[in-house]
Amino acid sequence: MAFNQGRNSFKRTYHRRKVCKFCADSSLVIDYKEVKTLLYFTTERGKITPCRISGTCAKHQRRLAQAIKRARKMALLPYTNV
Ligand SMILES: [Zn+2]
Repeated sequence: MAFNQGRNSFKRTYHRRKVCKFCADSSLVIDYKEVKTLLYFTTERGKITPCRISGTCAKHQRRLAQAIKRARKMALLPYTNV
């Protein structure tokens, strides 16, 4: 990462390059009916996984959030899992 260079560069914090799943795999579609796909991008409590964790790009993260919210409304996904 850019801000990690300089004084502490000897630490060599290794970061695995996250890649957006939807950019990498064009067969993967974001749709509110694709519950299996959406479920992968939610936590066990039903929250949407942030892009900094999942590595999803901004464009796909927006679509994903919309799809998940739609799926929740259609009762395909839970709003919360307590
Ligand atoms: Zn993407």
